[in-house]
Amino acid sequence: MTDLTSLTLADAREGLTQKSFTALELTDAHLAAMEKARVLNAYVLETPEQARTQARAADATIAKGDAGPLAGIPLGVKDLFATTNVRATACSKILGNFIPPYESTVTSQLWRDGAVMLGKLNCDEFAMGSSNETSAFGPVINPWRREGSDTNLVPGGSSGGSASAVAANLCLGATGTDTGGSIRQPAAFTGIVGIKPTYGRCSRWGTVAFASSLDQAGPFARTVRDTAILMRSMAGHDPKDTTSVDHPVPDYEAAIGKSVKGMKIGIPKEYRLDGMSGEIDKLWAQGADWLKAAGAELVEVSLPYTKYALPAYYVVAPAEASSNLARYDGVRYGARVNGRNIVEMYENTRAEGFGAEVRRRIMIGTYVLSAGYYDAYYLRAQKVRTLIKKDFEDVFAKGVHAILTPATPSAAFGIGEKGKADPIEMYLNDIFTVTVNMAGLPGIAVPAGKDVQGLPLGLQLIGRPFDEETLFSLGEVIEQSAGHFTARKWWT
Ligand code: GLN
Repeated sequence: MTDLTSLTLADAREGLTQKSFTALELTDAHLAAMEKARVLNAYVLETPEQARTQARAADATIAKGDAGPLAGIPLGVKDLFATTNVRATACSKILGNFIPPYESTVTSQLWRDGAVMLGKLNCDEFAMGSSNETSAFGPVINPWRREGSDTNLVPGGSSGGSASAVAANLCLGATGTDTGGSIRQPAAFTGIVGIKPTYGRCSRWGTVAFASSLDQAGPFARTVRDTAILMRSMAGHDPKDTTSVDHPVPDYEAAIGKSVKGMKIGIPKEYRLDGMSGEIDKLWAQGADWLKAAGAELVEVSLPYTKYALPAYYVVAPAEASSNLARYDGVRYGARVNGRNIVEMYENTRAEGFGAEVRRRIMIGTYVLSAGYYDAYYLRAQKVRTLIKKDFEDVFAKGVHAILTPATPSAAFGIGEKGKADPIEMYLNDIFTVTVNMAGLPGIAVPAGKDVQGLPLGLQLIGRPFDEETLFSLGEVIEQSAGHFTARKWWT
């Protein structure tokens, strides 16, 4: 039999329908692959019993002929999602052994449609990071290596476990969250597809909050079609999240293969950074050529406020984080470190429970929200955010359907290689992705080529609000032209 773990999600769905294999066999193949790949540290919790129970239930629905759209599809879940009776930690010590008594809306919709949960995936602590090095469970290793080297590389972050697991065939797809790039950047670093939907497309209910006005859940998979399949189950209005939008969920998969002829694609000149590597430039031009060959029209566009996006993001996101993370006080959840009185208990718990990056964000956030600095930093950043959003609105008003940019300024780097002396070096990873969160738009990262060291590189397509379908159509054109990217297996 073919290796069941290397199937695409769409092919696995077909094989299950045709009864070429059972959901239980498919799940067992993945559980076995996970066991052999523990060195990657992608999963922080494996849930084989739950997986087999769900797989058996899926087999029963398939036999009866009333299977859901994801019946028997094994998935990984970022540890930022609450899962009933299954530990959820946001990869922070402060949540300790927190076992949620409820399920996030996004994951409950996946199980409703028949998917199987293989386990919980590693991520940066509270989703703060671009390399998955801030996790309390230790770093995740990227299945990709530089040619002729055995240096361990980061998978990107914060959804590094999700990206690594999908790229290493340890699940057919995974959930992620993206506040400033945490789906698109790790997808690019691992040669897979990841989409951040429009803000409000997926419910945030039951997802550990980082920066509530920017956070959005989305899928990872190895093909554009597979992400489209997952999106349909993840998206939708949820009365429990007032920011989720009551907008019909289309059949995203129908967008695959749709002609892109006559579509206008914007190339923003401000994304051509000083000192950007020639490889990234070449990749970008190649992507534009592929879209042109498919009948799209390429136009130069201007997004003048782009240069302020990263600094504004690093005011808004920490501000919201400092407020969201106030709830971790040693009283309600997880870990507690005692003190002589309650204030000391709070202090000890928070000092010990949060890692260095999270503490830095809380301090920055508290500072920019403090009475004397609120106007100078927070209010100003919010004004810049409005201008960034307007930049995009102006471009779309000119009839542009989507915008093409690089996904990241470089390929994956080595563990410990970046951000030690200066955190900004790490923050710069998100230079092409944060604008999209600031504007609330959808963005997809699609693998498009390799760098000189043989590592995958991705392109990003940014769309109009609630027009994920156009991103799937265009993304598939890039995928068809670029081909697929598979890491050489070294871990077993
Ligand atoms: N890397 C960015 C940060 O650290 C974005 C993280 C995210 O999207 N969750 O804030």
